[in-house]
Amino acid sequence: MTTGELSQWHATNPDTYLPPGLAEPRPWQDGLDIPYWEAIERDELVVQYCDDCKAHQWGPEWLCHRCHKFDLEYVKVEPKGRIYSWERVWHPVHPALQTSCPYMVVLVELPGADNVRMVGNLIGDPMRPVTIGEEVEAVFEHHKDADPPYTLVQWQRTRD
Ligand SMILES: [Zn+2]
Repeated sequence: MTTGELSQWHATNPDTYLPPGLAEPRPWQDGLDIPYWEAIERDELVVQYCDDCKAHQWGPEWLCHRCHKFDLEYVKVEPKGRIYSWERVWHPVHPALQTSCPYMVVLVELPGADNVRMVGNLIGDPMRPVTIGEEVEAVFEHHKDADPPYTLVQWQRTRD
């Protein structure tokens, strides 16, 4: 995709952070993460929760890291966090990203869920300075035209 094509694509797809052509996410074949994908489709953020040791966990696992109990449940959490770490990506790691660099990748911790961490993109100006601990909120980016449709969780600064 040329720079001109990318500008045109962004003009018609202002709600997606990265350009088309990347691998589309799918639930794992074992079905473990299906509740997560279904929740974000409804603009809800969920993580795993162990009812035995009362702790949140992320990413999806079959058993609790703390007490080794199976059958963790998914619970809805507030879609707000703070930046734990970040990376401004200058090197296109995929051909579809050749005209999209730099872009921002953030590791967001969720204070409302035992500080579990999630990876996503920080939407907005990629050259804006980032402060560790900055508050962010989830943005549910729906790709309704994909086959099958899917949703991604991106992050934006709470105070913009
Ligand atoms: Zn546990």
